[in-house]
Amino acid sequence: MNKKGKLYIISAPSGTGKSTVIRELLKKKDNAFFSVSATTREPREGEVNGVNYWFLTRPEFERMVEEGAFLEHAQYVGNYYGTPLQPILDSMAAGNDAILDIEVQGFRQIKQKMPEAVSIFIVPPSMEELERRLRSRGTDSEERIRQRLAQAERELEMAPFYDKVVTNDVVQRVTDEILAFMDQSR
Ligand code: 5GP
Repeated sequence: MNKKGKLYIISAPSGTGKSTVIRELLKKKDNAFFSVSATTREPREGEVNGVNYWFLTRPEFERMVEEGAFLEHAQYVGNYYGTPLQPILDSMAAGNDAILDIEVQGFRQIKQKMPEAVSIFIVPPSMEELERRLRSRGTDSEERIRQRLAQAERELEMAPFYDKVVTNDVVQRVTDEILAFMDQSR
C-alpha cells in the first residue's frame, strides 16, 4: 500500500468542543483531508449529508460492514458510526494527512490495523464544564445527556493510551497545540 500522508485520530468525549477544534484545525492545516464518517443517527439541525456525516439507514450501514468498506466501525449510544476506508487510502496516497474524528473503540481498532497512526485525545476542562456544554447545546434529551455523560467518564479512562492529551480550554490555543504536535510527529 502506497501511503504518503499520515493518519491522525482525534477523540474526545462528546460535548468537549471537538468539532469546533477540528473545524479550526482544518482552516489552518495544509494538505488535510477530513474523513466524513457514516452514521445511523439522525442528523442534528444544520448537519448536511456528505459534509458532517453520511447519514445511512441500519441496513445500508450493515451492507457496508459486510462489504468491508469501513476501516473501523463501532456502536455509540445506540447508533452505528464508521470510517469509510477508500477515501482515506486515496487521500493519503495523494500525500494528504487524513484526520479522523472517532470515538475510543474505533481508535483501538485502527491502532491494531495501523500502529503508525497518530492519536490525540481532547479533554474538557472539567466534568462540570462538559455537562454545562452538553446542556447548552440543547440538542439532546435529558436521558441522552445522562448517557453521554456516563459515556464520557468511561472514555476519559482511555486518554492515557493516546499519543497526546490536550485540554480544550480556549479553542485557538488548543488548536495551535494540536497543530504543533502534528508538525512534530511528521
Ligand atoms: P456525535 O453523535 O456526537 O456526532 O458523535 C458521537 C461520537 O461518535 C463522537 O465521539 C464521534 O467522535 C464518534 N464518531 C464519529 N464518527 C465516527 C466513526 O466513523 N467511527 C467511530 N468509531 N466513531 C465515530
